[in-house]
This record gives sequence, structure tokens and C-alpha cells, in this order.
Amino acid sequence: MKNIIVLLALVPVCLFWNLLASAQGIDVSGKYEEPIGQQIHIYRSENNHLSFRSAYEAFKYGHFSQSSNSVLNFGIGAKPVWLAFYVRNNTHNYVSRKLLFETPWLDTIDVYFLQKDRLVNSYHLGDSLLFSQRPINHRFFVNKHDFGVGDTVVLIRVESADAMVIPIYFLTSEEIADRNTLQAYSYGLIYGVCLALVAYNFMLYIGLRANPYLFYSLYLLLFVILNVAYTGHGYQWLWPESPMWQQWASPILIMACTLSGFAFTLQFLNIKVTWPRIYQWVVSSCFGFSALALITIIAGKFIATLLISIVFIFYFFILAVILGVISLRAGNKFAKYFLLASIFTIFGGTITANAIWGFIPFNWLTYRASDIGMMADAIFLALALAERFNINQDEKLAAEKMANIDLLTNLNNRRAFYKFVQPLWAMSLRSRSSTSVIILDIDDFKLLNDNYGHPMGDRVLVKLAEIIQKEARSGDVLARWGGEEFLVFLPETRLVDAVTIANRMRKRIMSIQINIDKAEKLSFTASFGVATTHDIDVSLDELIARADRRLYQAKKQGRNCVYPDPYDQKPYQ
Ligand code: GH3
Ligand code: MG
Ligand code: MG
Repeated sequence: MKNIIVLLALVPVCLFWNLLASAQGIDVSGKYEEPIGQQIHIYRSENNHLSFRSAYEAFKYGHFSQSSNSVLNFGIGAKPVWLAFYVRNNTHNYVSRKLLFETPWLDTIDVYFLQKDRLVNSYHLGDSLLFSQRPINHRFFVNKHDFGVGDTVVLIRVESADAMVIPIYFLTSEEIADRNTLQAYSYGLIYGVCLALVAYNFMLYIGLRANPYLFYSLYLLLFVILNVAYTGHGYQWLWPESPMWQQWASPILIMACTLSGFAFTLQFLNIKVTWPRIYQWVVSSCFGFSALALITIIAGKFIATLLISIVFIFYFFILAVILGVISLRAGNKFAKYFLLASIFTIFGGTITANAIWGFIPFNWLTYRASDIGMMADAIFLALALAERFNINQDEKLAAEKMANIDLLTNLNNRRAFYKFVQPLWAMSLRSRSSTSVIILDIDDFKLLNDNYGHPMGDRVLVKLAEIIQKEARSGDVLARWGGEEFLVFLPETRLVDAVTIANRMRKRIMSIQINIDKAEKLSFTASFGVATTHDIDVSLDELIARADRRLYQAKKQGRNCVYPDPYDQKPYQ
């Protein structure tokens, strides 16, 4: 019982303290690093055109109610609000302080300073005015006031169609300069990273002509421009004369950025080829959203455009995850990077959006979450594109190799043979050294195929390729010349040496025994034609033709022998 009485007694004491604290308001000598929302009283009049005098009267008669949040937040499409707070100067001099409104998109902000019921100063800010009309050149809204001795009432009217989130700071000029420096570094980092990736991916597009790089660099560039617009940098640096564009930039750029995000996603995950119906659906819905946005833009319905753009971006977030997941499940190697990247953007974007709409506390981390998410996204996608580049390169090399190699025997095909031999041939012409070629052909291979089947024929070809590879020297170039015909190019080799090598090959081939079953073993033979340049001016093709003629002769002479060219040599058997 006693406790309850004590508690009950405490209630009015607390209330009194609260009142006292709020009545005291801001002390010019104090340090206020955080937004001063809790010192502010709010009045939401039904009358949109209330004069500042009437608002002041309402404040004096206690019609304003105190805010409990440090950042005031009234959401999208809110009616104009009146805010008021006391500033007490207990010193003996004027004290100069600045008010900073850290939301660059607020349309109009009227600030009145009253002392002893008398208006001593006023400012009109907001991005519906020309940038040059701002009292202080700043991407946010800043004004300066010399607070006289005693109490000053600061009365503020804010009107905005955009999300009306109002972080108000009470700072010295030095404190504002410090904040500017810190923010300049962080934006420098974000814009630097993103623009470097824009340039890098654009270069890759120029070099590789692969569309995903182009769409990715466009997507990032639009993200940077959107960010520049909604952080107020755009109005400060790029379009200070265009309050109209400043107003519409955010929804229009959200639409453009989302569209390029879709274009990139469809390209990157190869949706058109893999899921043509999903592709159709996405493209139609993009047209639908764009048409809706265009209609509202033409009709001048700003809030409708803004809402459409926000719904569109969330639609993109959801679809990006769905497309990422189905691509991952379908075995797309890059989908995991894409998903990870998307999750970062979505997470960041959702946090920032909720902070702006007032569902979660608004502070620098929640406000900048979308930037951080997007930067992580950019880095993950750059990694994915780099891996894609690597894989493409590997695939290209593999394809090139495949185009040069005979798949059955792993020997060069004719194309590759000429590629490798051409420089060797040119060198041998210059040095006038002897160059030889051996051409060999399996004997009665058609019969072998007929008797034992085509697969067995293939095994014989593979085996023969192995043998001639082993018997050839390291500088020799081998090729599968035709069905069961093989060619060996021997640089700097005289005829007698080439014939020796050919004969060694022939004998090794003869000795091969392939198991057919337990009882039967298969063996086969091959015939050889050999030719050498031998100080005669011939072309490579002529040399090969000469060897081929000798091969024909070897066949005619009963097969399983080596016939050399010139003729003064005897066949080797
Ligand atoms: P010769 O001793 O006069 O060279 O007689 P041959 O039967 O070896 O010559 P021919 O040119 O009449 O037949 C070659 C056969 O080689 C015909 C073709 O079916 C077979 N052949 C060609 N390429 C392949 C292949 O890749 N695999 C298999 N198994 N057979 C092949
Ligand atoms: Mg043959
Ligand atoms: Mg043949």
C-alpha cells in the first residue's frame, strides 16, 4: 500500500519533470549530436493554410503535443505539419547556431524565430525552391540564427508529398563541417566503387560484346544517378535550376533503375532461352508498370508515380529472388552470386524504405543501408561476371582444342596439322635441311570392320595412334589424315632416318595383339609411304602427295611394307 502511495506521488513529479524538461527545450550551450526530435512539439492542423501567427498562438495555448521520437516521421503524402521548440540562451551574448534538416527531398520548410512574441528571423527552404535561393549552399537544408539572450521559440512548417521524415539537428558550424567531411568520404567511396565498376563492365562489354556487361554497367550507373538524386547531390551539383526535375527525379529514376535491373537479370540468368514463358511474363509486367507510371507522370500525379515506382522495385526484389532460386536449381553456376547479391540489395533497400516510412528507427545506418547493400551487390556481381568471363574463356579454349583434335585418337586433325607444321616447314625451307613425311594406312581395314565390327575398328585406330605417338620423336607432328590414314611430319630428318622410324612403327604395329575373347586375338598391319625434300624444291602438299603415291605402291606390292621416295631406295619389309 505504502509503495503504491509512493508510486502515485511519483507520477505527478515525473510529469512535472517532463514538462520542465520540454519547457526548457534546447540550451544553446549544450551539445546535441543526435536529432532533437524529442524536444519538438507537433501540431497537425486541419487547415493547410494556417498562418504562422495562428500556429504560434496554438503553440502558446498548448495545442502542440510533444514528440517521443528523435526523428519525426509522418510517412508518404502527409498533410503539412507545424513543429515548435524552445531555445534558451542563458549567456550574455548572442549565440550563433545552425538548424540542419537532413532530408533532401522535403518540398517546403518555413522556419520562424520568435522572441517575446516578436518575429526576429525567418527562412524559407525546401526543394520546391531554386537551389540558388538556399541561404546556405548545402545538399540538405541548413539555416543559421543568432539566438538572443533569453528564450527563443523556433516555429517550423513542413510540407512535402514525398516521405515526410524530418531529422532535425541543432549544431555549430564546425559540427556541420565535420558531418559534411564524413559524409563526403562515405559517398566518395560508394560512388567511386560503383563508377569504377560501371567503367570496367562497359569496357568488358566493348571487348567481349556480351550484353550482360552492358546491362550491368547501365544498372549500376542508374543506381548511382538515383542515389545522387535522392541524397540531394544532384540538385546541388547537376540540376540546381530545375526544381521540377528535382521533384520527379526519384520516382522516374527508380523506374529506370528497376527496368535496367530487370534487363540485366533476364540477360544474366539467360531467362529468355531457359524459361521463355517467364521471360514473356516479366517483359509484359515491365511494360505494364512503365505504362502505369507514364500515365501518372503525364497526369502530374506525383504520389501515384512514387507509389508505383516503389511497388515496382519491390516486385523486382521478389522476382529477382525467385528467378535466382529457379536458376540455381536448374544448375546455373552464376545464380548463387546473383542470389547473394540480390539478397544484400533487398535487405538494404527494405531497411532504408522502412526507416523512411517510419516503421523502424531512422538513423544513419538504416538510412544508408540501401547504399551498403548495393555496394555489396555490385561487388558480388562483379565477381560473378569475372567468373563468367573465366568460364567463357575456358570454354573457348576447350572449343578451340576440340576443333583441332580428332576425338577418337586424340591426334591433330588436318587443320591443326597445317597450323603446327606451317612454321616448321618455313624454317626448313630457309635452312635447306631435309624434311620427311610418313603416311601410313591400315591394311584391309574394311575387312577388319566387317569381321569384327565398327567398335573393334575404333579400338584398332586408338591403339595404332598410341603406337605411332610412342615411336615418333618429340619434334615430330602427327595427325589423323583420314579414316584409317595417319601422317607424321619429321623436321630435319633425312630419308634413311624417316624410313627407319617408319619401319619401327610398322613392326610395332604388327606385334599388337588385341584380345577379342579368351581364344582369339586380333592383329593387323599397315603400309607406309615415306618422302623427303632431299634438296628438291617442293611444296608441303607435293611432298605429302609423293609419300601418298609411295603408299599406294606399297599397297600394290602386297601391303605391310615401307616404300620410300626417291625411288633409288628399296622397300623395307
Ligand atoms: P587397304 O588395305 O587398301 O587400305 O584397304 P582398306 O579396307 O583398309 O581400305 P578402304 O579405303 O577400302 O576402307 C577403309 C575403311 O575404313 C572403310 C571405313 O568404313 C573404315 N573407317 C574409316 N574411318 C573409320 C573409323 O573412324 N572407325 C572405323 N571403325 N572404321 C573406319
Ligand atoms: Mg586401309
Ligand atoms: Mg584407305
